[in-house]
Amino acid sequence: MENYIFKAILFLFIISCGLVRFPFMKKYKQNINARSLHTTFEKIKVLLAWLGMCFVPFIYIFTGLLNRYDFSVPFIIRILFSAGLALDVYFFYIIHKELGANWSPILEIKTKQNLIKTGVYKYIRHPMYTQSWLWVIFQGIVSANWFVLIFGVLTWGFMYFTRVFSEENMMIEVCNEEYVEYMQHTGRLLPKLSWRR
Ligand code: SAH
Repeated sequence: MENYIFKAILFLFIISCGLVRFPFMKKYKQNINARSLHTTFEKIKVLLAWLGMCFVPFIYIFTGLLNRYDFSVPFIIRILFSAGLALDVYFFYIIHKELGANWSPILEIKTKQNLIKTGVYKYIRHPMYTQSWLWVIFQGIVSANWFVLIFGVLTWGFMYFTRVFSEENMMIEVCNEEYVEYMQHTGRLLPKLSWRR
């Protein structure tokens, strides 16, 4: 019974993230892009990350194929991390609103690209990637399943570590000094701690 509740929560989480992203995906398709980077490799990584973040959790939710990888997590911890997933959806929504038409599933520069430095982007350069790390970790704990947890972390981790540095180099090429200066005030995934005022 307990597992059914958390499967329902996980299902709602993934569907909500899909609903948040859907209008941006539509807008993205209408957008003209000026330049894409490592397009084929990027598409393979997006597919891999999708497998870890959506497909495997759906296998967990709708079949018993992954049951043997279940581990035990106290009910209260699963509830707390479920609340974390709800906050993560809200975070996902805020970031999409802030990034607007600059969002893209693969690395690319749009003809009308703006450098966003406000809202969450004032403190963190890659809040969407922070959100994805929280996604794979929280969903692994809520599902209480090793396969969901480890496969999610590995596929997303592969995407993150092979993308974030190229993305920053691309942004430096396009925005020059402005991005270099922006990097000095922001953290990659978490706000930069500064002792100076
Ligand atoms: N790394 C960001 C954005 C992910 S979407 C995040 O985690 O929130 C990827 C696209 O966003 C890249 O192709 C790049 O064109 C664009 N991008 C990244 N940082 C940006 C910024 N600060 N302002 C505008 N566009 C940005």
